[in-house]
Amino acid sequence: MKILVPVKRVVDYNIKVLVKSDGSGVETSGLKMSMNPFDEIAVEEAVRLREKGAATEVIAVSIGVQQAQDTLRTAMAMGADRAILVLSEESPEPLAVAKVLKALVEKEKPDLVFLGKQAIDDDMNATGQMLAGLLGWGQGTFASKVEIVDGRAEVTREIDGGTETVSLAVPAIVTADLRLNEPRYASLPNIMKAKKKPLETIQAADLGVDMTRRLTTVSVAEPPVRKAGIKVGSVAELVEKLRNEAKVI
Ligand code: AMP
Repeated sequence: MKILVPVKRVVDYNIKVLVKSDGSGVETSGLKMSMNPFDEIAVEEAVRLREKGAATEVIAVSIGVQQAQDTLRTAMAMGADRAILVLSEESPEPLAVAKVLKALVEKEKPDLVFLGKQAIDDDMNATGQMLAGLLGWGQGTFASKVEIVDGRAEVTREIDGGTETVSLAVPAIVTADLRLNEPRYASLPNIMKAKKKPLETIQAADLGVDMTRRLTTVSVAEPPVRKAGIKVGSVAELVEKLRNEAKVI
């Protein structure tokens, strides 16, 4: 079983992003960039499946600028066998990413495409679902457990109020949720080994994919600043304030 894992280079989750003064987006220049956290979880799970003998090869793929090769090296340091960088503009739209992935799926013929449930920069939560639609494959989104049983993927999904288990015929799409696993740190020897693993670079245009943007960002704004809370002296005062100030009871 071959697994393709798309990994996106995003602003590190520890960084507090600031909105550009003209409201056209967020500042990214000079910021620490890392692998999207949900993609780390997907890489970890794919590598675990290979370590258990359920998978034979894990291929990491990123669509973006040249620097995304650092993200791919991290995926290989975590255990991916090889990587593909598809050069395009920074942060392409989910539909364009899904089309690139479809072209790669046709070339590489993986049995599973294991994505993150969402990229933390644009929070789209769309690429896996769009890819499943384009390929006509089954999908197990928001996975909190994945097992390969008799050549099928059994995916336990996080849903409102509980979990649901679906059994998917492969090839299939799986997207990783937070509780699926705790990704490993890449050790120094593995970071060194990853430098020697194969990393192929291709142009998005060579895959025949139209990367034209279809979405326009109208404006980006900071969330409203939360007002400080107050302490009340008694339950009676609390009720009075809820009734007369907040007007919620
Ligand atoms: P999104 O639909 O943008 O929230 O992203 C969902 C998932 O799609 C991510 O967790 C990645 O696995 C994958 N993905 C999105 N954009 C890219 C990209 N530019 N390169 C590689 N994978 C991506």
